[in-house]
Amino acid sequence: MDAAAEKKNVVVLGATGSIGDSTFRVLENLGSEYRVLAMSGGEQLDRLALLAKEWEPQYLCVGRSERVGELAGAAENVLSGESGLDVLATLPEADLVVNGLVGAIGLRPTLAALRAGKIVAMANKEPIVMAGGLLLEAAQSGGGEIIPLDSEPNAIWQCLKGEEKADLERVILTASGGPFFARSRSEMENVTPAEALNHPTWKMGAKITVDSATLMNKGFEVIEATWLFDLPIDRIDVVIHRQSVVHSLVEFVDGALLAHLGKTNMQLPIQYALTHPRRSQAPLGRFNLVEVGQLTFSEPDGVNFPCLDLCYSAGEMGGTAPAALNAANEVAVAAFLDGKIGFLDISALNSDLLAAHQVRRVSDIETVFQVDAEARFAANRWIERRA
Ligand code: MG
Repeated sequence: MDAAAEKKNVVVLGATGSIGDSTFRVLENLGSEYRVLAMSGGEQLDRLALLAKEWEPQYLCVGRSERVGELAGAAENVLSGESGLDVLATLPEADLVVNGLVGAIGLRPTLAALRAGKIVAMANKEPIVMAGGLLLEAAQSGGGEIIPLDSEPNAIWQCLKGEEKADLERVILTASGGPFFARSRSEMENVTPAEALNHPTWKMGAKITVDSATLMNKGFEVIEATWLFDLPIDRIDVVIHRQSVVHSLVEFVDGALLAHLGKTNMQLPIQYALTHPRRSQAPLGRFNLVEVGQLTFSEPDGVNFPCLDLCYSAGEMGGTAPAALNAANEVAVAAFLDGKIGFLDISALNSDLLAAHQVRRVSDIETVFQVDAEARFAANRWIERRA
């Protein structure tokens, strides 16, 4: 085998976003063992062109077909849209697909990649919330695998290595509490998108940062964990941990807890997802426990941050309920960022739409997309009525 054939071919979906940034830093650090085969970016084509120049992928995919021309010559193949993402996710030469997409758009390519037997390193949690069962089925039938990239499920995945599932009592997800921790509802009434985007510990994209401010992000992680770790939702707990040093914990039947600690940097879980079961040096420096000094833990505030409980409700309702809630939330967050609705309207809209949702069984992907479309329509009507 020649050296080139031994390289691991990586596909980066959502290359121009925050997960893309961290992934490329990890790949720089890991060096010549990895090759970027393909990358996608939605609208930030200048950034995509720069990345293509640096990494020389064979395939690029942009959000819209009318913009393909802007990247002519930047790679051998320039594709677009959802069909382009599907091609990238299933390239025969691909060994690993990093999914750093945002929202429901990641569902189809993830499903396709798993069916094609790919390892998918998944930061994009919405597809798992929407259709976790279908993704697991696809992985099983196609031989693919989901590796969680997000810091909390990645921490749990690491804590469970070498353990027996039967010995697991529960998992405990940590939450930073976001920028509005300890605020009352009246104190959040007039907060601006800029304030919501000012996360205390993690640097992330806009959508997930707003989800962190409402605690919806943590709720989605709860639903995600039911699928990834095959647990009923009442065995997944959330604790507020302001320092974001403990990335999550697991508790075993004997009462022992294992926690994963480390720097608040996405390169850490991403690198391990790529190198596991081995570990590699990372240029992040040593972690200083004494500098951190104190770790604090407290109960989430379900009254002022109702989105977390909405996710527990949706998880208990099962079927299409999480998909409907996810779609409502995507519309609500976009409207909040556009200045069309207030911060508290996000949870109000989500609550109203979930209450009205008629749960269906998730028998196929078409059902999920139908529910997604209906919930988006209803969410937009909710916003029009409010205006
Ligand atoms: Mg997370």
